[in-house]
Amino acid sequence: MIVLKFGGSSVGTPERMKNTARIIQNQQADKKLIVLSAISGITDELEKFHKFLKKKNNKSAKDQIDKIQQKHLDFIEELFQENFSIQQAKEFLKTSIHNLLNCLHQPYQSNFEGICLAQGELLSTKIFQVYLAEIHQKSELLYAPDLIHLNTDELPEVISIRKKIQSYFQQFSKTDVFITQGFICLNHQKELGNLQRGGSDYSASLFGAALQAKEIQIWTDIDGVHNNDPRFVNQTSSVKHLSYEEAAELAYFGAKILHPQSIYPAKIQQIPVRLLNTLAPDLPGTCISSHSKNKKTVAIAAKDQITAIRIQSSRMLLAYGFLKNIFEIFEKYKTAIDMITTSEVAVSLTIDSTKNLGLILKELKNYGNVEVDSNHSIVCVVGDFSGKTHGKAAIITDALKHLPIRMISYGGSEHNISVLLPEEYKIEALRSLHARLF
Ligand code: ASP
Ligand code: MG
Repeated sequence: MIVLKFGGSSVGTPERMKNTARIIQNQQADKKLIVLSAISGITDELEKFHKFLKKKNNKSAKDQIDKIQQKHLDFIEELFQENFSIQQAKEFLKTSIHNLLNCLHQPYQSNFEGICLAQGELLSTKIFQVYLAEIHQKSELLYAPDLIHLNTDELPEVISIRKKIQSYFQQFSKTDVFITQGFICLNHQKELGNLQRGGSDYSASLFGAALQAKEIQIWTDIDGVHNNDPRFVNQTSSVKHLSYEEAAELAYFGAKILHPQSIYPAKIQQIPVRLLNTLAPDLPGTCISSHSKNKKTVAIAAKDQITAIRIQSSRMLLAYGFLKNIFEIFEKYKTAIDMITTSEVAVSLTIDSTKNLGLILKELKNYGNVEVDSNHSIVCVVGDFSGKTHGKAAIITDALKHLPIRMISYGGSEHNISVLLPEEYKIEALRSLHARLF
């Protein structure tokens, strides 16, 4: 069994969808599970629809439905040869549009968001299945929310997910090709939910781990992970191998390659994750596995819209419990901390979600003087920074010596050095580090 996940751009046009089908047929494996995202742009449109719905802006919400419907109608008309296929796909589109209209015509309920956002993946997978049938490829379409569900912390319930997936697949032991939706699942209230934006990678990894797949392939339109951000830096190159730890650091700190949490299930089961390019399927891409041991600096990535908070306590001298009190506030408001640096009298930390910032600041002020700096970027260098290596921190700070650094984090893991600076210096930091490190 291999798991192949295709992102929105790989099914973004009828041509691309056909190409995706060819790639699948060319893969050698006894069984294949295809995990699909929505057609590119559709989840954004559904998100907009949901916003209008919530604001009771019915006119804009209805326009948004028309737009989503038209985009799928055009897609269907162009993709299929046979009338029978067109009718089948249109029938399914009607159901999805009906679900959206239902939300529009009822008083707003909290479960509408999950219902709305799910329609993209429900549609792309059905259209794809009908297309496979048209080209005489038999397949079985799975409803992902039957198998993937979240606990009260909105995290996948890994053990029971594994059991469900395994027993499901035993029933269909004669089928070779399975298709399912990425991203969507049931939340703990047993309503439609999702694994957050970009969550299809996570779905693929959960399925791959549960099925002990030989490999999880993540297909996008770039040849794997690059050693720097190609949007800002010239002459980046793709990284052939990454360890799970390196991949997790890169994904978390901004390389838009993989949903950050998706590494973990694959790592636990030691399943290789291969990042491949639908536009150049023969290129090797990047392989993430436990075999990779990079001795050098591997890659640089950046994460934007970071807020730094400094809490200065006059009582910190010898005061144990200060950090605990501070961290408890972030825990209470379910806000993850990314970077931390401490001194004897102060602690600086960063967050990327400012949803509860006001409440957090109010409570932090009980412990000291609080300063906030928004619009910062974390620039993260991933590689081997274990205790045996030396001189690497010096190279990094030297490359950034002309830029104002707000925080530096070294030694948290052996794989990363992170630097926080104002967002306007990010591109220069990426370029300068690239010139020195590669
Ligand atoms: N369709 C979802 C999104 O756009 C999930 C995914 O593509 O991974 O975020
Ligand atoms: Mg993605």
